[in-house]
Amino acid sequence: MTAAGAVPAERAQAALRIDLAAIQNNWRLLRDRVAPADCAAVIKADAYGTGLEHVAAALANAGCSSLFVAQIDEGLRARAALASALPRARLFVLNGLAGEEAHARACADADLVPVIGCDEDAALWAGEAKRLGKPRQLALMFDTGMNRLGFDRRRAGKIAAWLAGAPLLRPVLVASHFIASQAPQDARNALQIERFEELRRAFPGAPASLANSSGVFLPQQPFYDQVRPGYALYGGNPTPGAPNPMAAVVRLEAAILQIREVEAGETVGYDGRWTARRTTRLATIGVGYADGLPRSATGTDSEAGGEGFVAGERCPIVGRVSMDLTVIDVTDVAPGSLAPGARVELLGDHIGVDDLAARSGTIGYEILTNLGRRYARSYVSGTGAHDRAKGSARA
Ligand SMILES: *Cc1c(COP(=O)(O)O)cnc(C)c1O
Repeated sequence: MTAAGAVPAERAQAALRIDLAAIQNNWRLLRDRVAPADCAAVIKADAYGTGLEHVAAALANAGCSSLFVAQIDEGLRARAALASALPRARLFVLNGLAGEEAHARACADADLVPVIGCDEDAALWAGEAKRLGKPRQLALMFDTGMNRLGFDRRRAGKIAAWLAGAPLLRPVLVASHFIASQAPQDARNALQIERFEELRRAFPGAPASLANSSGVFLPQQPFYDQVRPGYALYGGNPTPGAPNPMAAVVRLEAAILQIREVEAGETVGYDGRWTARRTTRLATIGVGYADGLPRSATGTDSEAGGEGFVAGERCPIVGRVSMDLTVIDVTDVAPGSLAPGARVELLGDHIGVDDLAARSGTIGYEILTNLGRRYARSYVSGTGAHDRAKGSARA
């Protein structure tokens, strides 16, 4: 199956392979780490660029029953994708209702649970419950330091009192979000935990959730009732600076279009930002910034950029990444092993998303969510519904 706009394999210049079994294994690793807390999954932004429908189904098959999206339309897509596998999946919408009655109605119709962090959205959702005459679930987001979305934590008591007067609203989650959980020594983690524990006392009995991917690896183990990993599921390293405990999910291979040799002193690419210091063999690949390879992966005379992995060697990107093309220095690759059509790994077992990100001055999250539309996409299928079938009567 190809995603909308994807290029058929026989004509694509690069192949993107997404390993759903690895996503399932990553989820199981996190689940086992936080048990008995529930391990939800964040699948916003097209499951971090990997394909929301495929990922939602694979996670449901592994046993994940709570998923978080950012926007309502992502929630509708997830609901449709899970209609047969997990019709009762709990789908949270992190960005809430945007103060729009139409959003509240859409959430109610698809049985999505809005994550609410302001009075306007709270009033809208209460109004929707009243209109329907039916109980409605909601999650409450509190700010403990991000200053982005969420109620002021000092209003927890007031919000709890207001909820007590809205009998149709059922708070199924009290949440907050770390600002620096990838840095375990950062004192703000402990501060946020302290603030969270204080505010959640206003909601006795309501399940609590604080940890994202990196939060799952904090020494304080702030798992509460549910954790909300995203990045780690997709193979990103939740413990920067330490080895990555997660399995690689994304493999991106580009075809070499042309090979040339240049003399010392020649430059490569727009503006001639990289100069050959020796006789150099260059390989041009059909991937550029229009495909999500950051322009900042450019390698210049003064600063190294990204790399491609080819025939057992790491080969630097040289010159500016252009829109549709990128050049790598393959001088150190055995000459016989390269020709147009040969494959260069840009992401995979040798080059992780965090690796490319670090060499491009960005984060792996941005690498993943920018994965381009011109790749031939394929999926390595995950395991079926065996987790839930375990213990069934099948011989
Ligand atoms: C995106 C997001 C997450 C997931 O974060 P990761 O770092 O990708 O694990 C969890 N909670 C909230 C509120 C988010 O916005």
